[in-house]
Amino acid sequence: MKSLYNKIILLLFLAFLLAPLAFWQITNFPTKTGPVEITIEPKTITAIEEPAEELPALIPPIIEPTVTPEETITLEELASPEETVTPEEPAQAEPAFIEERWVIHEVKPGDTLSTIFSSQEIGTTALYAVINSGKEGKQIERTLKPGQKLLLRFKEGTGELDLLIHEVNLVKSVQFDINAGSAITTVLEKDVEKRIVTASGTITSSLFLDGQKAGLSDRTIVEMAGLFNFDIDFAREIQPGDYFSVIYEAKYIDGEFFGNGSILAAEFINTGKSFRVVRFERDGAVDYYNEKGQSRKKTFTRTPVNFARISSKFTKSRYHPVLKRWRSHKGVDYAAKTGTPVLATGNGSVKIIQKQRGYGKVIYLQHGKKYTTVYAHLSRFKSGLKKGHKVKQGEVIGYVGSTGLATGPHLHYEFRINDKHVDPLSHKLPAADPIKGDKMAQFKKVAAPLLQQLDQLKAPVIAGQP
Ligand SMILES: [Zn+2]
Repeated sequence: MKSLYNKIILLLFLAFLLAPLAFWQITNFPTKTGPVEITIEPKTITAIEEPAEELPALIPPIIEPTVTPEETITLEELASPEETVTPEEPAQAEPAFIEERWVIHEVKPGDTLSTIFSSQEIGTTALYAVINSGKEGKQIERTLKPGQKLLLRFKEGTGELDLLIHEVNLVKSVQFDINAGSAITTVLEKDVEKRIVTASGTITSSLFLDGQKAGLSDRTIVEMAGLFNFDIDFAREIQPGDYFSVIYEAKYIDGEFFGNGSILAAEFINTGKSFRVVRFERDGAVDYYNEKGQSRKKTFTRTPVNFARISSKFTKSRYHPVLKRWRSHKGVDYAAKTGTPVLATGNGSVKIIQKQRGYGKVIYLQHGKKYTTVYAHLSRFKSGLKKGHKVKQGEVIGYVGSTGLATGPHLHYEFRINDKHVDPLSHKLPAADPIKGDKMAQFKKVAAPLLQQLDQLKAPVIAGQP
């Protein structure tokens, strides 16, 4: 009798101890399983029938799932016989009436529409309705990419899928209205609003840092530098006190910044010399031109090696370190690590590609009838490059080395006009493809207001104001 009494006391004591623990577990584990499910109050749903522009407002806030289905712990598992604790009411009572329900599914690698649908317990009727809904339906499997979102709406009452929205990207979504085994598709495109913005600054440390300080994105800084790389060597020639200004497009979707667009015009003043470019579309091709309507692109780029330093300039006479005598240096030497790519400075064809005594491995490029460029002391040629092959400006033709008469790895570069050596650093390079004829009036119309705006940006700087 006494032992039974003791057992009851012990059991009650245990139950008393375990009760708060079990309760803590129940309240701390999500009771819902599967991906994010959001139920929207009926009054918000009315907006869904509205046109495309209303879409963003409809998208329910994204709630990150805190557990994956595998990790989900059910109430049954929590309530073991010893812990005879059950919530007073079941946590998830089956609602008598099925409300309209939205599910946002983020596409994961390996997902297909069919696996997503089956994970949501959507029948094949709806799947075929989507797939057979014409062009957009056919494309959905192919355009489904990890990170995209699928918005699924389940009908009030029956709980069947009646709307699927595939967010293809920030701008485009495809909507499938599913009804009785078929689907009607609508492509929704948000308007991208372009605002014209400006930025300007003076170089104090680097184009990158000063560009960022002026509010430019990294991408815009790189693009801006690219617009002047035929005139300015940013690695070598940039100076404190140099000035830049840029007029560019900023893209907005639903009033929210979405990214930078094209540069419309820009100016760079390098050691007092101004370079200005304006964006202009000619015969469907967009390019940048100077005030005179000459393409910013030159027949030749300034330098055949990026990230190099000039170790020897073009001179009429210098002491040759290997030959140990004075002689003229008919080119420019670029010191760079062995293996640094060497780029063709202009479009042309391979005239000579061989090993010579002084030059070592050398390439001569012929550009039209007039111009020849020479690249010497290469460690190796670009594989497969042969005499007579055509090369494009900026194309890798070989790699820096120290073959031939060279003290260390460097590129010896020559620029010849009608076989006469000229200094590639000071020679005025010919401009490519200027705007002519009736296109010129069109160009001036585009350029005038932009150039005026560049002047206005520059005015306080010129006046010496901050
Ligand atoms: Zn040299």
